[in-house]
Amino acid sequence: MELFLNFNTSLMPCEEVSVLVCGSGIGGLTTALMLKELGVEPVILTRGIGNTYYSQGGIACALDPKDSPYLHLLDTQRAGRGLCREETLRILVDEGVQRMADLIRWGVVFDEETTLEGGHSFPRVYKVKDYTGRAIYTALWRKVEELKIRVIRGELQEILGDGKVEGILYYDGELHFLRVRSLVLATGGAASMFLHTSNPVKVRGDAIGIALRKTLEVENAEFVQFHPTVVKDTNILISEAVRGEGAYIVDERGERFVDELKPRDEVARAIYRKLKEGRQVFLDMRPLIKRGINLGDRFPTIYQMLRERGFDPEREPVPITPSAHYFIGGIRVDSYGRSSMEGLYAVGECACTGIHGANRLASNSLLEGLVFGYRTAYRIFHDLAYLKSSRANFKNKREGSEEPPYSFEDIRRLMWNHCGLEREEGSLKEALDKLRGWLEGWQNWKPTVENRQLLDISLTALATLSCALWRRESRGVHYRADYPYEREEYRRDSLFKLNSVL
Ligand SMILES: Cc1cc2nc3c(=O)[nH]c(=O)nc-3n(C[C@H](O)[C@H](O)[C@H](O)COP(=O)(O)OP(=O)(O)OC[C@H]3O[C@@H](n4cnc5c(N)ncnc54)[C@H](O)[C@@H]3O)c2cc1C
Repeated sequence: MELFLNFNTSLMPCEEVSVLVCGSGIGGLTTALMLKELGVEPVILTRGIGNTYYSQGGIACALDPKDSPYLHLLDTQRAGRGLCREETLRILVDEGVQRMADLIRWGVVFDEETTLEGGHSFPRVYKVKDYTGRAIYTALWRKVEELKIRVIRGELQEILGDGKVEGILYYDGELHFLRVRSLVLATGGAASMFLHTSNPVKVRGDAIGIALRKTLEVENAEFVQFHPTVVKDTNILISEAVRGEGAYIVDERGERFVDELKPRDEVARAIYRKLKEGRQVFLDMRPLIKRGINLGDRFPTIYQMLRERGFDPEREPVPITPSAHYFIGGIRVDSYGRSSMEGLYAVGECACTGIHGANRLASNSLLEGLVFGYRTAYRIFHDLAYLKSSRANFKNKREGSEEPPYSFEDIRRLMWNHCGLEREEGSLKEALDKLRGWLEGWQNWKPTVENRQLLDISLTALATLSCALWRRESRGVHYRADYPYEREEYRRDSLFKLNSVL
């Protein structure tokens, strides 16, 4: 399985770009800004705002003299349940200290006080009220405009080249061809392939599928973090900080049934089980008011989003459901963002640097995008001496006329029902059979951009299902009801390539 769309680049206008950065979250913007500072002309391709913009809690870093990067490392390792890659984790906690200075010099103004989040042994989470991501995104974007970095609004469709990246196709109403010497995928995670998700729709995980079609390896795809408190039937996330300040999780009788401050995955599973019994679950924020906290002042973004959707948290509890939140796995890369394909780099949530292991510690992901975006830019600066531009043309002739027998919503339902918070062999196999059945005749599908996207999301889902089936144990965020314990022989990363799981 390789190319999907119907095209012939020798009949298309062509432009040449030395570095194309696909995605405009913290990973992509940091890479592009650093490249520009190094004198390289990057071009950003993006289909819009991603998860970075919606991040609430903050960014973790050991900046306080009483804290230390080593403590940060130990906390992250504890959450990662034996799977954190020490080499990259050391880089994260050490270089994070330097990169936070870049964020500040690029214009992010953090609040004076920091917060303590679940799993951290020190209050090292730097925030801007409850809209840290928006503040970071706005500052970086302003810098992109100031430095006049070219931005193309469009959607990546195909990666072209044999063994090395030679070009890409993107779509902005029509199909375009770009010759590129290097490509950075900074396209975010894939949690939106689940029915309930905190992710915005622009982040769909389809670029991971495009990479899979180029035979790239995806690592640890089974590890999907579920957030316990997302407002039912929306993607509005109510940050942990709200529980930290005293909100209760209650059932329809108003009774508490779980310690709200337990780790994220335990709270999420407790809520999930309640919902499975046919009960309802709510987040009651009124205890904060009793403690003298003004919800609108302390959590302005959450409060406003709730009011806009017709909820009044000052008067009544808000219905919630646990939702897929963060894709821990991703395209396997080294500590400089290099994948196994020459000229192809990956950064941020779509990449797997191994820092999170089997569970992500809160607020480590923004730091990951920042630190590894910076390193990737430096690597590319040097690699450009070796990455030659190509004169090759590419074509793909396909004449399929069928529509796929399923939709994106079917995938989301399948993943939620069979690969959600509690997984089990029979149910995972059933889902895999179903998905493989849907994919069987893909060669006959009409080669449209919509069908390309569905195919690529399906391949990412295939990776997650296959690895979840392979991992016959429970570790970190991956919970198998039939193996509810860790098994030493699985204390290793999973690796998925099309047609094989290792
Ligand atoms: C509600 C919410 C709250 C969060 N809170 C925190 C927090 O407090 N702290 C923390 O550390 N993390 C938090 N996270 C996680 C964090 O936001 C993400 O892990 C991080 O922002 C990912 O950054 P990124 O650059 O990899 O991707 P994103 O910011 O998701 O950006 C992806 C980009 O890729 C583009 N894209 C995708 N596919 C294509 C394509 N085919 N063609 C072109 N462009 C494409 C998108 O348009 C977007 O610009 C939160 C996540 C959510 C959803």
